[in-house]
Amino acid sequence: MSLTGKTAVVTGSNSGIGLGITWELARAGADVVLNSFTDRDEDHALAEQIADATGVSARYVKADMSKGADCRALIGAAGRCDILINNAGIQHVAPIEEFPAEKWDAIIAINLNSAFHTTAAALPMMRAAGWGRIINIASAHGLTASPFKAAYVAAKHGIVGLTKTIALECAREPITANAICPGYVLTPLVEAQIPDTMEKYDMARDEVIDQVMLERQPSKEFVTVEQLGGTAVFLCSDAAAQITGTTISVDGGWTAL
Ligand code: NAD
Repeated sequence: MSLTGKTAVVTGSNSGIGLGITWELARAGADVVLNSFTDRDEDHALAEQIADATGVSARYVKADMSKGADCRALIGAAGRCDILINNAGIQHVAPIEEFPAEKWDAIIAINLNSAFHTTAAALPMMRAAGWGRIINIASAHGLTASPFKAAYVAAKHGIVGLTKTIALECAREPITANAICPGYVLTPLVEAQIPDTMEKYDMARDEVIDQVMLERQPSKEFVTVEQLGGTAVFLCSDAAAQITGTTISVDGGWTAL
């Protein structure tokens, strides 16, 4: 499948799932724009590595997805956006009555509001190009809840609703919008939850992985970033042209339980 000639913007792509999806889109021939809120040499080096390995054009643009103006500026800086992957996300775990209000605001801003702003900025470019793919990285938590993840669950359910609305607004055009709902992927976001969970349940690292995280995932294996990248490439293909407004779970059976 060739995505040559397309430009993909992937928010939050200097790590984890976003970086994995960016690699797979580049391997399929798309020019890529990487993003995060930092502006370090290693961020720009990631873009160089991808360009060197795949031959596509790749660059890194700093933009803070917690700020609407930055979200829109990212799309403007890309100059073209055929494929938009709304992936930037953060997590915080706490009971509702102890959940810091500023964490709630940050999670809703980065995990949900950013997708509204980038989509609003990207749609005119997609319409001008006569083709577009919007892929929102939701979560199994966009379809089911977990205690202590109120903001994350609310944001992920919200992005599923946003995805359906975009799909309906674009239904008569060659522009699709879908959400990928991953189960557990061993990225820095998940790694960061392990020490607190070890302490909370007095468990070793392996026990947290087996008995808390993969307990919910019938495959008993982490999803990989390459598998999610492959799903994104499929959603960009002609075979997926009529797939719109839906969620694709890549979760080892989590939401089948
Ligand atoms: P990660 O921490 O490796 O990646 C998060 C990315 O978001 C990083 O590139 C980070 O720099 C970026 N980011 C954070 N704040 C930002 C901001 N203000 N502006 C711009 N970029 C920002 O975590 P990940 O697991 O790869 O998460 C990526 C997405 O996948 C998130 O939306 C997350 O909710 C979702 N997800 C992850 C899992 C999992 O198990 N890891 C499961 C389901 C969904």
